[in-house]
Amino acid sequence: MPAMDTIVALSTPAGESAVAMIRLSGPACPEIATAILSQKGEFKPRHAYFVNYKSLTGKSIDDCVLTFFESGKSFTGDAMLEIVPHGNPLIVQLILEDLIARGCRPSEPGEFTQTAFLNGQMDLTQAEAVADIIHARSEQSLQLANKQLHGSIGRKMSALTEELLQIMAHLEAYIDFPEEDLPSEDQAGPAQSLRILIQSLKELIETQRYAALLHEGVKTLIVGEPNVGKSSLINALTGTDRAIVSATPGTTRDYLAAFIMVGPWRIEVLDTAGLHEAGDDLERVGIQHTMEQAETADFFLLVVDATRPTPELPKVLLERMHPENTLVLHNKMDLESVSPAKDFMPSLPHCEISAKQGDGIEAMRQTWLKVLETKTAPLRTLDGIIVNTRHATALGVAVCALESASEKFRTGDLSELIAADLRDAVDAIGDVVGRVDNERMLDSLFKQFCIGK
Ligand code: GDP
Repeated sequence: MPAMDTIVALSTPAGESAVAMIRLSGPACPEIATAILSQKGEFKPRHAYFVNYKSLTGKSIDDCVLTFFESGKSFTGDAMLEIVPHGNPLIVQLILEDLIARGCRPSEPGEFTQTAFLNGQMDLTQAEAVADIIHARSEQSLQLANKQLHGSIGRKMSALTEELLQIMAHLEAYIDFPEEDLPSEDQAGPAQSLRILIQSLKELIETQRYAALLHEGVKTLIVGEPNVGKSSLINALTGTDRAIVSATPGTTRDYLAAFIMVGPWRIEVLDTAGLHEAGDDLERVGIQHTMEQAETADFFLLVVDATRPTPELPKVLLERMHPENTLVLHNKMDLESVSPAKDFMPSLPHCEISAKQGDGIEAMRQTWLKVLETKTAPLRTLDGIIVNTRHATALGVAVCALESASEKFRTGDLSELIAADLRDAVDAIGDVVGRVDNERMLDSLFKQFCIGK
């Protein structure tokens, strides 16, 4: 559907910068481009022109680079114009005012991407990926958003829809042409395919648990007895002195947070109060906080003092630790007569470090990365994973509809009723990409049963 309005917006952050980018999309773009580029004579689409921007009143505003994109060959699908002047808020303001005087209107948030979706340039998951790319804070989530922008979720949904259509085709043909000479309805095949489909949809929804790991980071708790070097470790990891390091046990009463990168992973490290028999009320509150944080933690760095006997830590906490979510760090290895307690939690990976001197920190980061990679093995290809709540919700609706269909298969219900459930599931999967493609369903149906004959 062609746009009526021509929208305009500053696409770079407001404020001073080397250059700024003003984007326009809509039917007035060719005329505006012709007016501004009149000094250049004939101009070609998708070519950058260095031009002096003159307002409607003929005033010179700034030298800028202008690129015109013809309708059908632009991000939004409508004609577009990109104007790149110097990054001065006054220049940007004058150009925006001039463009509004030429008939443009300021765009709504997200309107360029919304236009692209409405023009069929991308599906909904790709539109969402544009926002994800802008907000990505780790290489992993950036990579995932890029794959999504290039249609990874769309392809996955197409494959699922295809499987469902095969099942429906079998059933629909029977409903539509019961009197024709079709083979008697063999429900075991479709019922079995349906169960497999439900299982793969459930597994897909399950991958949503990686969403927080990718978007917010791996929540990592540094735990251990007081004075073992937890705050020193956070300082060694962040390369700052943000945590208070003190020889007085129990100094970190609450928790401190910092973000670091381990390989491509964004890690939120939380320094916690030392775990021991609490001395005063404040310490008890700190320990309580640590236990609460442990409930939602993705990873633990369990620090032990290599100069001291094996620590005694709360059993409920130790029970949360396993080889895929914990590193045991024997700290203070720079001191003499240290004997790291290797028999403590022997199933977990162990590292020897000196948080104070920085020794062993790099090797520990390497081990940490390996453990993270094991923990997140399904993410390795970053294909077929769902990290968006809207997608997971829509797929949940599809699973409900399919389970209802499966139950009807089991109880020998009417095929029409089963088909209605399956259609609901197709719609729900279609909701993920924002498109319900009934024509494809008919294509599949015709192909399989040669109904046109
Ligand atoms: P926390 O209570 O577990 O946070 O421990 P801190 O980081 O505050 O450290 C307690 C004490 O141990 C301080 O005096 C630190 O300087 C010291 N310390 C921490 N790490 C090391 C280390 O690797 N080697 C040595 N020799 N001392 C350390």
